[in-house]
Amino acid sequence: MKKVGTTGLQMNEPVIFERSVKGRKGVSPIEHDVPKANVSELIPARFLRSETVETNGAALPEVSELEVVRHYTRLSQWNFGVDSGFYPLGSCTMKYNPKVNEDIARLDGFTSIHPYLDTDSTQGALQLMYELEEYLAEITGMDGVTLQPSAGAHGELCGLMMIAKCLKARGETRTKVLIPDTAHGTNPASSQLAGFKVVKIASGTDGCITLESIEEAMDSDVAALMLTNPNTLGLFEHDIVEIAKIVHSRGGFVFCDGANMNALMGLVRLGDLGVDVVQLNLHKTFSTPHGGGGPGSGPVGVKAELAPYLPVPRIKKDKEEYTFEYDCPDTIGRLKAFYGNFAIMVRAYSYIRRCGPEGLRRVSEIAILNANYIKERLKATFELPHDDKPCMHEAVFSDATLKEFGVSTMDVAKRLIDYGIHPPTVYFPLVVGGAIMIEPTETESKAELDGFIEAMEAIAAEAKNAPELLHNAPTTTRVSRVDETRAAREPRLVWQP
Ligand SMILES: *Cc1c(COP(=O)(O)O)cnc(C)c1O
Repeated sequence: MKKVGTTGLQMNEPVIFERSVKGRKGVSPIEHDVPKANVSELIPARFLRSETVETNGAALPEVSELEVVRHYTRLSQWNFGVDSGFYPLGSCTMKYNPKVNEDIARLDGFTSIHPYLDTDSTQGALQLMYELEEYLAEITGMDGVTLQPSAGAHGELCGLMMIAKCLKARGETRTKVLIPDTAHGTNPASSQLAGFKVVKIASGTDGCITLESIEEAMDSDVAALMLTNPNTLGLFEHDIVEIAKIVHSRGGFVFCDGANMNALMGLVRLGDLGVDVVQLNLHKTFSTPHGGGGPGSGPVGVKAELAPYLPVPRIKKDKEEYTFEYDCPDTIGRLKAFYGNFAIMVRAYSYIRRCGPEGLRRVSEIAILNANYIKERLKATFELPHDDKPCMHEAVFSDATLKEFGVSTMDVAKRLIDYGIHPPTVYFPLVVGGAIMIEPTETESKAELDGFIEAMEAIAAEAKNAPELLHNAPTTTRVSRVDETRAAREPRLVWQP
């Protein structure tokens, strides 16, 4: 079995303070040609530190230049990313981002502007944002788009705030949001933040929401149905058009979490299905590297009825001139300093322009094809929790076939690390016991997918023949199993010798 990634050469590295040797320096300053000044004569005593460096006033490590370079280079190599290997993290779309979009985002004209500049001198940036809004409206089938929110969850909050304000304008008080049990965890969190009560909707036996459950739950106190499509089982909500009709006929809105747009571009426009609000994750689908806590961008698209509530400023085009419009009486206000995370918009714009409509469609087609390839090849080895039907961009398995060997999803995930592969998303969605959620994305080759499938099959065989290999995994890393929660509960933020 061919292993991928690096297994033989581990970059061991202590904290930099352990490298410190008293008196060692990274630079050799040239001799002063002016007399040394007495600091205490220049700076009033009350501003001087009481400690000296010797008594640890500024506890800096004393290291050479090469030690600094090696230290940080080694640390950087402890990091795993899409650029170093396969990263099939379901629901997260950890796909490869073409470097050309990085180059474009780094062009001087984009990086040197400041949001306080007069719009006369930033027409190009405004045009880019204006056109990006138009492209995203076209891709989602919406009438208006804001680029302001800085993440998917922030976009959810923005969308729900607009719904709340619109209901208020209609003179209605609706307090509930319906959320299927296959929803992303941010959906109930955002609903709570926006002041709504969450009502959980159980999905049907095929993993999708049923008309009956919406018929039953949709009353005059429901502000919105918030669903993810494709849902977190990687399935397309086949009844969405009918479901939207029920919600609308009873005065509610349909919010679609569009973070999984990687499966839909050029194939389906959510607006055409009856969706009123959708948020996108530019840092998943549209070429911004993702992970490590941001920055992100979560644009929100709305149908015409909600457009007056979009955050300010709006970008307006008047003849050939672009301006910021602040005078929008019904707006929910501002959600973010300035206009959002601009560099991410540049990457998305560049990505969309380079792919074009046909290219974006091809992206989604291949993302779906790759996920189905994995599903078909692994379904003999791992259990599919729902009916075996084609999936969208991700495939979800359970650990049911492993239980008899005393092996769990966590063991499989840790063992994959020994095979040089980043584990998929595990134990999510919650509706599947021991979920293994695999999103290969369109950017992986067949050879890469085959390598992953072979590793999964080899691990399933190990589970049967040598389960201790899985229980002890990973063994090729610097540390093996760590306590999953201790770092969060007992953070050690200060270095102690
Ligand atoms: C990633 C994701 C989110 C949250 O996006 P953030 O940018 O992390 O806030 C919401 N919903 C779904 C379905 C997602 O996959």
